[in-house]
Amino acid sequence: MANTIEEILGAAGAIAKGMSVTFQEMLSPTVTEYYPEEPAKLEERYRGVHVLQRDSNGMEKCVACFLCAAACPANCIYIEAAENTEQVRISGGERYAKVYSIDYNRCIFCGYCVEACPTDAITHGHGFESASYNTSTLVKRKEDMLAPVPPGVHPPVVAAEKTGAH
Ligand code: SF4
Ligand code: SF4
Repeated sequence: MANTIEEILGAAGAIAKGMSVTFQEMLSPTVTEYYPEEPAKLEERYRGVHVLQRDSNGMEKCVACFLCAAACPANCIYIEAAENTEQVRISGGERYAKVYSIDYNRCIFCGYCVEACPTDAITHGHGFESASYNTSTLVKRKEDMLAPVPPGVHPPVVAAEKTGAH
């Protein structure tokens, strides 16, 4: 008999504990996201479509060292390197990425490329609306990922183009 009363009290205590959590949640403010009517709220470290960064002079940070491609477990980064010249300087190093593509059919957003980059040239952006029925649109080119030149900054290649020097 005593065991039965203890079991009943134990069960009642467990129910009361569970219901206290339920009531606390009922009284807390409701958080509703209205995506796509409103922009999605993403955490700062969210790993979305990559961004190829520029330095403070507006030059591309990528120096075409291929370390990101070597680190990529999905083998989805394709790079073609080219030399900077006196007339046309694209990056701060000897070389720059003439072609830089990522195949998002294969990318698993692991971030290894970001970790491997010695110049912080590649980072994860917050872009996530990349789903497509056409897989060819999932190959992003350098032009799709390159950060814009900051306002008021004139990287050397732009100056060279203005003067007609190539
Ligand atoms: S996030 Fe991972 S899979 Fe995607 S390109 Fe970078 S290293 Fe490759
Ligand atoms: S993104 Fe970084 S790691 Fe990849 S080639 Fe450019 S500089 Fe090297």
